[in-house]
Amino acid sequence: MLCLPAAPGLHRFRSPFDIAAIAVRGAADGPTLLVSAGVHGDEYEGVRAIFETVESLDAGALRGTLLTVPVLNYPAHRAVTRHHPADGANLARQFPGRADGTASEQLAHAFSTDFLPHADFYLDLHSGGIRFAMPSMAGYEAADPRGRAAAEAFGAPVIWGHPVIEPGRTISAARALGIPFLYTEARGAGRIHPEDLLMMRRGITNLMRHLGMLDGAPEIPAPPRRLQGIGNIGRAA
Ligand SMILES: [Zn+2]
Repeated sequence: MLCLPAAPGLHRFRSPFDIAAIAVRGAADGPTLLVSAGVHGDEYEGVRAIFETVESLDAGALRGTLLTVPVLNYPAHRAVTRHHPADGANLARQFPGRADGTASEQLAHAFSTDFLPHADFYLDLHSGGIRFAMPSMAGYEAADPRGRAAAEAFGAPVIWGHPVIEPGRTISAARALGIPFLYTEARGAGRIHPEDLLMMRRGITNLMRHLGMLDGAPEIPAPPRRLQGIGNIGRAA
């Protein structure tokens, strides 16, 4: 497992596998919220939401650590492709990965071993990317009250409780470690919709409030539509 910076403030660093991370360590102790984006290389809302959040976060007011990986699948991001250019694989089907596997499996393994074990809560930000258009939502595991409570606090217009978390996802690797989680979807379709960027920025902050890392109650703009059940909408997660 990666050793995190101990001093309060903002830290930019790279993991041994060369995954770029930004951590904001609070002045007081508290939980670690892990947030990732860019599992798919053509999704940008979460990347931008993470950068804007860490830049505006006051470490002096924070309890615990906001640990972020803004662009998890950097090779795909650089190639402007959904999938990893070395093997053409969907990174969101490779978790928990293998140390001696394909490029995508190795990347999944590195994130699973270096980053996920730090998390008291895990949020993975997805969207429709360039090719797809998705509803803006937060998804959780219906049977996990920690995920459901976090989804209610997130402030998304739609929250979806899934009875089954399919294997291979970042969130299934988190689940295997006992870490509660949420994922998002957003419109995508080749641009960053301002409302989706706002949803993600507000959602990260709301989660920190929900977890006791920041003062104040989560800001919920409107009661969410609540969906339950299986559905292939989780495709991109
Ligand atoms: Zn995605």
